[in-house]
Amino acid sequence: MQAEEYNRRGKELVDYITQYLSTIRERRVIPDVKPGYMRDLLPDTAPAEPEDWENIFNDIERVIMPGVVHWQSPHMHAYYPSLTSWPSMLGDMLADAINCVGFTWASSPACTELEIHVMDWLCKALGLPSFFLHHHSDSRGGGILQSTVSESTLVALLAARKDKILQLRAELDHDIDDSVLNSRLVAYASDQAHSSVEKAGLISLVKIRFLPTDENLSLRGNTLKQAIQEDRRMGLVPFMLCATLGTTGVCAFDKLSELGPVCAEEGLWLHVDAAYAGSAYFCPELRSSLEGIEFAQSFVFNPSKWMMVHFDCTAFWVRDKYKLQQTFNVDPVYLRHENSQSATDFMHWQIPLSRRFRSLKLWFVMRSFGLNNLQAHIRHGIEMAKLLESQIRSDPNFEVPAERNLGLVVFCLKAGNASTQELLRRLTLSGTMYLIPAEIHTKRIIRFTVTSQYTTANDILRDWGIISKMASDLVAEIQLLDNAVQPKLEDDEVIGSEENYDPNSDTRSEETEDTTSKMDTAQVELWIDKAWNPTRRAMRSLSCNSEPLPYTCIGPLSGYDFETRPCSKDSAVVLSTPPITGAGPLLKITEMPSNLVGKQVLKKLTKFNSVPSFCNQWVQCGRHQLCCPLKVSQTAQKHLSSTCIRMNCMSSSPIANTAPSPTPLETATAPQLSQ
Ligand SMILES: *Cc1c(COP(=O)(O)O)cnc(C)c1O
Repeated sequence: MQAEEYNRRGKELVDYITQYLSTIRERRVIPDVKPGYMRDLLPDTAPAEPEDWENIFNDIERVIMPGVVHWQSPHMHAYYPSLTSWPSMLGDMLADAINCVGFTWASSPACTELEIHVMDWLCKALGLPSFFLHHHSDSRGGGILQSTVSESTLVALLAARKDKILQLRAELDHDIDDSVLNSRLVAYASDQAHSSVEKAGLISLVKIRFLPTDENLSLRGNTLKQAIQEDRRMGLVPFMLCATLGTTGVCAFDKLSELGPVCAEEGLWLHVDAAYAGSAYFCPELRSSLEGIEFAQSFVFNPSKWMMVHFDCTAFWVRDKYKLQQTFNVDPVYLRHENSQSATDFMHWQIPLSRRFRSLKLWFVMRSFGLNNLQAHIRHGIEMAKLLESQIRSDPNFEVPAERNLGLVVFCLKAGNASTQELLRRLTLSGTMYLIPAEIHTKRIIRFTVTSQYTTANDILRDWGIISKMASDLVAEIQLLDNAVQPKLEDDEVIGSEENYDPNSDTRSEETEDTTSKMDTAQVELWIDKAWNPTRRAMRSLSCNSEPLPYTCIGPLSGYDFETRPCSKDSAVVLSTPPITGAGPLLKITEMPSNLVGKQVLKKLTKFNSVPSFCNQWVQCGRHQLCCPLKVSQTAQKHLSSTCIRMNCMSSSPIANTAPSPTPLETATAPQLSQ
């Protein structure tokens, strides 16, 4: 393609896009395709010769659109909004052409400088504290655009971890490896927190405790305080809270005004995830949930959700940028530049090196709408949600089981979980709107988010009309069933599992539903009501143990001896410690609870004790040097990466003595180490 053709085709594509978005209401919001649908539409190999643009262009409607969920449709109510807008798209059009990878200031000064500037704009527009500003006399903080909230939460966790580990190192004069300290850390979030919090824990091998919420699904200060005390008694080191403003399930708000002071007293890094709700803070009247934000160390929200800056665009602020930089600073020579000292190099604020010129679209949106129109957009979305809420509340078949917050309304049928589930299935099948389920404790609910900036009252009433009609039909059917079929159903007639239950595989339409399908409905109903999983996990991360550890030993870890001897009640490994002189802040041995079965205790103990502890020599190695003094035999070396060698270095520490003996697989790959 040459420049002249690009110019012509580009204009055609802009026409197509304008047409697509202007008429999106007319498209079926959920595609009617099955997994693998595209294979038949595409050749098996890439073309060897260039193809005409005409052919490529025509394939948009033939291949792509049939499989698209139309997220910009006013009938899209699933998840949270993922909005785009004309100025936002223009911003990326330009960014894509420039296509710089602005890792350092020098790699494209405009990329860094515009980002700094618009992040300050955004901070002020949302009413966030001035310590998050780049340009402010008493600020050490600043904002950066990250790819996602998930990544930002991980970044916050890594920074909080680094900060706490450095603190611990300063407090303990023993040379303890970071990985050992890491194993003692514990972070908190509410049981309503987004799965990305759990993921951050998995990645960093940090324990995360998911704490119970109150009747409004909001995490409270006392709950946090109590958890911290429990964990300190266990010898763990609480270091972070990830509070959520606007949870994904029902848009609940953790009580920052209570949590903030607890974090401050206890030395916890307070990270605030306001992924969706963050956009609402443009409106001063919606800022009450921000009370307590002055205690936050970091704050993140997604302009890519409700603010009409299209994906990806996540705004992340930290109170102390040096804490981020000390986490990520690697400083290789080839990335240094003349202004390294005075300029901001965002590569030290994030996980990847390269970064897109994302601030352009944010800048275009903020200027092109102006703050007044951004506020109007938020208020309109909320008005639309209120309209739906009033309709639901006036229909006797429905209930609204949690308060409406912002543009999210949740509802369910009074007839119970199975009916709600069945209603959702039918709505999804109809393709007329896209809704997803959620749970409040054991209650299945349907989430309805107002997404599009083009949603009108008519759109809401049209969708509500469909929902209420389907619901009344369903309720009538259930009543029939109640009278006729129900007595015949036995417990063991229950069918299927939810995982196997694929609404898409069911192609029956509402009209052709016969007695069999009514039976199915009743059976599904029974199954759902019985198999409803009422338990909420207290700790969700695989690296966590929700039960208290049998005992704790934190202190001069390299000096412990282990002996196996039967305990008074439990046959278990017992730890004997060297005499403790001047107990440090972490030195603590708690009693082993005697109510645990011996085998269980042993399992836990070995798990706990096999926390890796590097040999002292290794700890003294320089950060970038691979200078482990242990030698690996030549043959073994051939099969091993340096990581493997390092891993084996751990096993020379006495602390690993109680680790379970290696499995055949481990023995097969482990090298012979000789000193
Ligand atoms: C949407 C959402 C996220 C995930 O955002 P990504 O940018 O996709 O990682 C995290 N937290 C909450 C509360 C959300 O609603």
